[in-house]
Amino acid sequence: MTLPLRGVVAVVGGGPAGLMAAEGAALAGARVTVWDAMPSVGRKLLMAGRGGLNLTHSEPLEAFRTRYGAAAGVIGPALDAFPPAALRAWADELDQATFVGSSGRVFPQAMKASPLLRAWLRRLGGQGVRFALRRRWQGWDASGRLVFAEPDGSVERVTAAATVLALGGASWPRLGSDGGWASVLAERGVPLAPFAPANCGFEVTWSDGFRERHAGSPLKPVAFAHGGRTVRGEAMISAYGIEGGAIYALSAGLREAVARDGSAELVADLRPEMAVEELARRLAGVAGAPSTATRLRKGAGLSPAAAALLREGDPELPRDPAALARRIKAHPVRIGPPQPIARAISTAGGIALDALDDQFMLCDLPGVFAAGEMLDWEAPTGGYLLQAAFATGLAAGRGAARFIAE
Ligand SMILES: Cc1cc2nc3c(=O)[nH]c(=O)nc-3n(C[C@H](O)[C@H](O)[C@H](O)COP(=O)(O)OP(=O)(O)OC[C@H]3O[C@@H](n4cnc5c(N)ncnc54)[C@H](O)[C@@H]3O)c2cc1C
Repeated sequence: MTLPLRGVVAVVGGGPAGLMAAEGAALAGARVTVWDAMPSVGRKLLMAGRGGLNLTHSEPLEAFRTRYGAAAGVIGPALDAFPPAALRAWADELDQATFVGSSGRVFPQAMKASPLLRAWLRRLGGQGVRFALRRRWQGWDASGRLVFAEPDGSVERVTAAATVLALGGASWPRLGSDGGWASVLAERGVPLAPFAPANCGFEVTWSDGFRERHAGSPLKPVAFAHGGRTVRGEAMISAYGIEGGAIYALSAGLREAVARDGSAELVADLRPEMAVEELARRLAGVAGAPSTATRLRKGAGLSPAAAALLREGDPELPRDPAALARRIKAHPVRIGPPQPIARAISTAGGIALDALDDQFMLCDLPGVFAAGEMLDWEAPTGGYLLQAAFATGLAAGRGAARFIAE
């Protein structure tokens, strides 16, 4: 039996990272209270479950780690300790069996987050984890106590033996994570990378006619290339520009290119599964003396939105089938600024990873740990965001328990 540790671990932020930190610390014998500004925890997790909760990904761990780019060195050990297989086993224990979708993504069979969150909160309660809701963390007072503002304006001060900050990024602020913590930590000298939208759409200056007719139309299948990377998937034309999985996967590079150059070129392949020669043959094989529109529809099988996209900015398409095929396979789209961070799926930037030790403790604030999206890493959609939130949360929670034990 684990002996109870003296002192309370305060977990501030009840998203997936904070709840996992609470579980890790509680299982290590700590008394844990989770504080959250909202009236209930896990709101972004519930939102993530709206379109099918993509918990993690089934690809081999070696490939999985590369999704975090330069941050893999810090996120990697947390993933090794709590890899995708462990996350699936954890979900199983909550009676939320998972399955691998055709793209390799992992979902709970219920697809939604609500049954998983309900079962998890029940289990956390059984582990003795307490919740203090509607408490907005404001920083520390002069005695090192955590300061929380209550809705009626009163202030609660809390002495914690160790603290895990899991306050999320700055996207979708109405769900609770608004990035307000950044100024508190900056004042304490914690190095922070500026917030930036990640997994977000980008502005494109469409013609009025194209926007009116095709906003809301999917492009599928499609492949986009930028900066030497090609991503196949789907995208959606929107009134402001373009969004969707294939765009999100390229969003880090696009964001940097737009910040540097003012705009960026994305190259769309509107028939990614077909070689250019085969496409040219099919375009040439359309019977009669077809118009270009007919060739695009019958020969290339393009949707009205994909055909119209080809004419954006350049209504005169080549008539020669080989040249037309090359264009369908490499159509340039000029991309403008990313969507505001409030509308992005996730946040880049946050606490610099070199400010943390290998337990996810802030080197300059002993006893204060940090986890989840508030750290400076980013990853594409596909389950990589939640997996890293869970894994870093667990590492920080275990670290906090170890800290008070020592
Ligand atoms: C629409 C949408 C769909 C998504 N779908 C997926 C998906 O399918 N798969 C995937 O992997 N990821 C998905 N994500 C991303 C994923 O939900 C996040 O990466 C994840 O929730 C981050 O977890 P976190 O615990 O770090 O932060 P959060 O979930 O943001 O939790 C932070 C918590 O801190 C609290 N908080 C913030 N500031 C304070 C304060 N000052 N005082 C007290 N409490 C505070 C907040 O109320 C919140 O409860 C999606 C995101 C969105 C927006």
